[in-house]
Parts: sequence; C-alpha cells; structure tokens
Amino acid sequence: MSLLTILEYPDERLRTRAQPVETVDDDLRRLINDMFDTMYDAPGIGLAATQVDVHKRVIVMDVSEEKNHPLVLINPEVTPLGEEREPLQEGCLSIPEYYAEVPRALRVHLKAQDRNGKAYELEADGLLAHCIQHEVDHLEGVLFVDYLSPLKRDRVKKKMLKRQKTAS
Ligand SMILES: [Zn+2]
Repeated sequence: MSLLTILEYPDERLRTRAQPVETVDDDLRRLINDMFDTMYDAPGIGLAATQVDVHKRVIVMDVSEEKNHPLVLINPEVTPLGEEREPLQEGCLSIPEYYAEVPRALRVHLKAQDRNGKAYELEADGLLAHCIQHEVDHLEGVLFVDYLSPLKRDRVKKKMLKRQKTAS
C-alpha cells in the first residue's frame, strides 16, 4: 500500500488543468491503486489525480457505505440531465475540515473509461452525481469553494493557511 500526498488549498497546483490520458497501462493502474489507497485511508469518497499533483484526467471514487464499490473514471465527460439543481453539503480532501452546500445538477450522464481503458457510460443521481461533478471540476482546476461568495472563500483560505502553518 502506498499513500500519496494530497495537495491542500490554496496550493496553486490545484489550479492546473489535467491532460487527457492517451494510454491506459500498468503505470496508470499503479497510480489508480495508490489513489484508492490514499482515498480510503483519508478517508474520502473521491479523489482526482490533480489532488495528488498528477495532471492527468483520472478520478477514483467510492460512495458506497461498505467501501466496496470502487469506480474509476478516466477521461470523464459529464453532461447534466435536466435543469434540476440540488444543494448538497460537500467537503474535499484538499480542504480539510470545511464543509459547505453547493448546488449541482441532480442527475448526470457520465462517459468514461475504466481501469482497462474500456469505455462505459452511466447515469447517476444524488450523492454519486454530486461527487462526479465535484471530482471532474478538480480536473479543470476548479474547487468547490469557487462556488461560494468571495468573502466566504477568503475566510476558508485564511483558515487553511493558518492550519498549514501550525502543521509544519
Ligand atoms: Zn475535492
């Protein structure tokens, strides 16, 4: 088991736009395994490669109660289904101990590749739909605090910087 270091807000590297994956090989599968280890250990329900400073379009996720439904998203494409938006409380492994409600599409269509490079599609709603949108945002350099007011975001930033100072 190998744990990766998770970048924390406001680290500028979290703003990097991830590049598409061209070949799904053993090196990529090793990264995916390490990302799952890191996510389950944290513990969290989703982790984008951006958060471990690898700027490829790769996400790992598991929103199941028993932590036995690992989902791999390589080169994900997300399309919201319908106009309905739902606010849900979100957290992020890159913004520890901070939670806020973010409105997102209630239902989405996902197109991605699995750990063998095989294309798949699915429709998601509720927590899974939220999580997919949150993680795909990471690949674009977007964080959930970007949906908050500048004032709130500034407060989070100060809190994180203080936390990082006391931790080092
Ligand atoms: Zn996140």
